[in-house]
Amino acid sequence: MFGTMMSMPLTITSLIVHAGKYHGGTEVVSVETDGTVSHSTWADVARNARRLASALEMRGVDPGARCGTLAWNNRRHLEIYFGVAGSGRVTHTLNPRLTPEQMIYIISHAEDQVLFFDRTFLPAIAKLRPMLKTVRDVVLMGPRDAEAEAAIQGLLFYDELLEIGSADEPWPDLDENSPAALCYTSGTTGNPKGVQYTHRSTVLHSIAGNQPDGLAISARDTVMPVVPMFHVNAWGVPYIAAATGAKLVLPGQNLDGESLARLIDAEQVTLSLGVPTIWMGLLAGLAKTGSKAASMKRTVVGGSALPPSMIVEFRDKYGVELIHAWGMTETSPLGTVNNLLQKHTGLPADQRAKLRESQGRPPWGVELRIVDETGRELPCDGTTQGELQIRGHWILESYYGQSKSALTVDGWFDTGDVATIDPDGYMVIRDRSKDIIKSGGEWISTVELENIAIGHPKIANAAAIAARHPKWDERPVVIAVPAQGETPTEAEILASYEGKVAKWQVPDRVIFVDALPLGATGKVVKVKLRETYGDVLMGQDA
Ligand code: ADP
Repeated sequence: MFGTMMSMPLTITSLIVHAGKYHGGTEVVSVETDGTVSHSTWADVARNARRLASALEMRGVDPGARCGTLAWNNRRHLEIYFGVAGSGRVTHTLNPRLTPEQMIYIISHAEDQVLFFDRTFLPAIAKLRPMLKTVRDVVLMGPRDAEAEAAIQGLLFYDELLEIGSADEPWPDLDENSPAALCYTSGTTGNPKGVQYTHRSTVLHSIAGNQPDGLAISARDTVMPVVPMFHVNAWGVPYIAAATGAKLVLPGQNLDGESLARLIDAEQVTLSLGVPTIWMGLLAGLAKTGSKAASMKRTVVGGSALPPSMIVEFRDKYGVELIHAWGMTETSPLGTVNNLLQKHTGLPADQRAKLRESQGRPPWGVELRIVDETGRELPCDGTTQGELQIRGHWILESYYGQSKSALTVDGWFDTGDVATIDPDGYMVIRDRSKDIIKSGGEWISTVELENIAIGHPKIANAAAIAARHPKWDERPVVIAVPAQGETPTEAEILASYEGKVAKWQVPDRVIFVDALPLGATGKVVKVKLRETYGDVLMGQDA
């Protein structure tokens, strides 16, 4: 046939080959589990990934087998991402904060054949080993280690595994629709469910999610994903960094504000990504170290709602632009990113700032809609709220091991979030449908109540929950952590709601605590708060 174009599969292999070939000299910096900082390059990572792929072959790991990782953000983990996927196997990232029972369930459900782990997790893995029936090779991510060897029978060592592998052969050809990575949702209710990304979905997510109005990572950036590599593939940053040849800084285990502030300065990080709680810590860390984070230009924030007051603090004190994004494990994760349009250029600063607060707009490749409880599509007028649904090239179709589609009859994925969408496509998450407060038949957004509390100078962090109420079914209660050295009163925090929300939306109580319970990915665990404080209003007069 004449007049055709080349057709090449969209594979993760192509990303690492590109990084090795065209950005081979660019640095990959990694804080190792023993606290040392290693400096390697994309050429090293590409070579090691190829070696690992070859070693897996030599060990007789089945084609397509899942290979688990229990690891921080570091160089070896990065090499596993590319080596395992590039070899035609599947990287299955495990969240270290899962309970041992959940860990056994997930590893067995995924039938992991190999398990890579960082030294930190030696005691845990030594205990779990007898229960991990499907796992043939357990690999410590490091050099030979006598203590570890004594603790786990037949233990292999990553650095030795690389030595048996060869970097000289070409990568195998792969089908772009074959699976490449697997990540389980945190499963606050019921058993965790696996989301399996394909080569194709990952490449499309990397390219489309990184448009100038998306993450916009370039070869001139030094990017630090603080979001863990065990959480939705660190939001795809390892792949995007390879595709663009950005310098990558992997922060390892210590994600406290001071450690991050030091790393930002030492490596001149220009862009970072993580959940709001991490940035709350960084603000405190910057204040303590006196760092100005001078190299930082942008920070992408998602995973839970970004309090507007944080945008202002980063902008005014440090000149850092906070970019709000939304997504979930089922969406690879990028669903929306907040950037302005040309028509907003002339707007006054406060209006532009207001627009930046929303979760943003979908990049090419995904579509959003909101529907009512009967599935009827609702208008995108910026005020009508409904169940948020999504479809696109990197959105889940069915969970791992389940033949049943996870989609609506007309092919959309129901996110479980409640949102508004405006005529330009800017989406605002009002709540998760299970968190939203239903007071006397009306909905109250916990996100909105939290943002107001966090905006108060005497409050460091806050979570709003639905407390049961004899008359109204549910009423809002805010659980707040005072800022360091402050002792706010309930009355003054309640007063800050005046004029910002309707009277009936003002919380009934503000309860002060030292810390909020955080889940595996740094999000507030509201179920726990509801268990503790869900009945505080029940003694109340109806
Ligand atoms: P889990 O928290 O259950 O592990 P995910 O990590 O996949 O699941 O989180 C996805 C959810 O996180 C979304 O459905 C949404 O509720 C919440 N989320 C993510 N980003 C944002 C954001 N920018 N604003 C508000 N909520 C967000």
